[in-house]
Amino acid sequence: MKMLSILWTFLLSLGRLFRIRRKDTSTINLTEYYGKHGAPQDIQLQHNAQETLKAVNAMILKYDLPYSGVVTSGYRPSAYNRKIGGSPKSAHIRCQAVDLLDNEKQELADSITPKMLREFGLYMEDQRYTGGARTRGSGSWVHLQIRPTKRRIFIPY
Ligand SMILES: [Zn+2]
Repeated sequence: MKMLSILWTFLLSLGRLFRIRRKDTSTINLTEYYGKHGAPQDIQLQHNAQETLKAVNAMILKYDLPYSGVVTSGYRPSAYNRKIGGSPKSAHIRCQAVDLLDNEKQELADSITPKMLREFGLYMEDQRYTGGARTRGSGSWVHLQIRPTKRRIFIPY
């Protein structure tokens, strides 16, 4: 019996360790967010990037969201945004938005509710516009932003 209880305690602590490790790797850091462009010169943009990551990371951690650990788009200097055909008014230009890789079933998007978004001051693009299968055959992503729009889950354009 004692052996069993020792084994159980061991398994529980192993489980906790694993969760902590998983949580460490499933948040976004500034280096990932800025990507190949590096940090912008504009202090306001740096501040925006910090606010964006603070809100998104807090939501991921509190609700243990199934975040893949991959940022598909973070900061986009305006010239780069033009080059890739992004919306001219994209919140990515002002470091107020981030795209996270989602799976084919869009499980990350499915697990985010308007209530959660409200709690962290976030807005999400409607997943019908960010699903790989429904858009250009590329992967799915989740677009989150701190720049307010009319609805918590909004339709672009
Ligand atoms: Zn985006």
